Amino acid sequence: MIDEKLESVISEVIARNPGQTEFHQSVREVLESLGPVVAKHPEFLDHKVIERICEPERQILFRVPWQDDSGEFHINRGMRVEFNSALGPFKGGLRFHPSVNLGIVKFLGFEQIFKNALTGMPIGGGKGGANFDPKGRSDSEIMRFCQSFMTELYRHLGEYTDVPAGDIGVGGREIGYLFGQYKRITNRYESGVLTGKGIEWGGALVRTEATGYGAVLFAQEMLRARGEDLDGRTCVVSGSGNVAIYAIEKTHQLGGKVVACSDSSGVVHDPDGIDLGLLKQIKEVERGRISTYVERKPSATYTDRGCIWDIPCDVAFPSATQNELTGRDAKALVANGCIAVSEGANMPSTPEAVDVFHEAGVAFGPGKAANAGGVATSALEMQQNASRDSWSFSYTEDRLAEIMRSIHATCHATAEEYGAPGNYVMGANIAGFLKVATAMDALGLV
Ligand code: GLU
Repeated sequence: MIDEKLESVISEVIARNPGQTEFHQSVREVLESLGPVVAKHPEFLDHKVIERICEPERQILFRVPWQDDSGEFHINRGMRVEFNSALGPFKGGLRFHPSVNLGIVKFLGFEQIFKNALTGMPIGGGKGGANFDPKGRSDSEIMRFCQSFMTELYRHLGEYTDVPAGDIGVGGREIGYLFGQYKRITNRYESGVLTGKGIEWGGALVRTEATGYGAVLFAQEMLRARGEDLDGRTCVVSGSGNVAIYAIEKTHQLGGKVVACSDSSGVVHDPDGIDLGLLKQIKEVERGRISTYVERKPSATYTDRGCIWDIPCDVAFPSATQNELTGRDAKALVANGCIAVSEGANMPSTPEAVDVFHEAGVAFGPGKAANAGGVATSALEMQQNASRDSWSFSYTEDRLAEIMRSIHATCHATAEEYGAPGNYVMGANIAGFLKVATAMDALGLV
């Protein structure tokens, strides 16, 4: 049962943000965890900290005009939601995907507040992007789009103000074009204004791998807390982008076997284990579709429009996009013996799916805890930029592993303290909220 006052905050959020269903979903999920917190800390209601945390500090919407290679004109919508800066500059990725709208960016920005707080690093929460479809676009089209996008956004950014990074559709190539345009307009080599940069020009080792690696390390921690291990486990990783690729890599390093991955068209099932070299070639070099995997790997099958969650596994890593794993899918996973789910993507499991996992006793790591390794390593990149230093791969990976262990321990202990042992959703929401809310309250009514 949700607290009456919290329910009225949710109703207010729905009324004020009509139609933004993903945002409503993410707010509801967090506020549903906060009953025991407001019972202990009535000041968070009295001082309207909860209402304030649901209202972005600033929302920027802008036109992004650009020309394709044939000379045709295009107009997209760019946006940046600067959600909360109580703990540090706004921090969070940019997503370029045709589905992007303000509701999706707000849900991502809202999640980012608590995720970033959980990392223990001094970073606030924000998110941005555009309804631009990079699929099939040439490098020069991507460059022109990024330059136009940054020509508008640069005035809102800064290493102490707002620090974007990548998300779906924004990787090293796009960060390069964005940084180049920022540098040109501002006449400043301000490395710390963007993260996910190339290692030759201010980027950090391990940032590329960090989100996927972190999600697997989080799964390993959940399993160890139950006296289990990832070694020898059969795993399934949805998606085949940056998060999925490095989730597969770390699973294989830890002795697990990933037998399936996917893209928006279909599913590859390779009982021998996904050949990571081949997958990287297809996705990172050719920027192609995974259907071509089976042409080069006879042990694998490809199912057009298949459902990856029907493939039996011990551990699942949903690493594609929001709401990709439904209640029905969760039931299929449980029926096939799945014991742990660690979210590489942001909010990939629907609320119904999360309920199924909790009822079945599956160890469930929500994205805001399990995929926090990416943004945590962004904060390590900012540290290196601020001190004009660059760290080795192994040193940085050790820091990432330490951060993931600490996030797991915090979520685990907080869930127990607030009467929900083993519930990482409660643990993550409460621990993240407490950190941000305490800071907001100390900073006064701003
Ligand atoms: N987009 C990533 C996330 O969802 C990373 C954000 C960042 O590094 O700032 O956390």
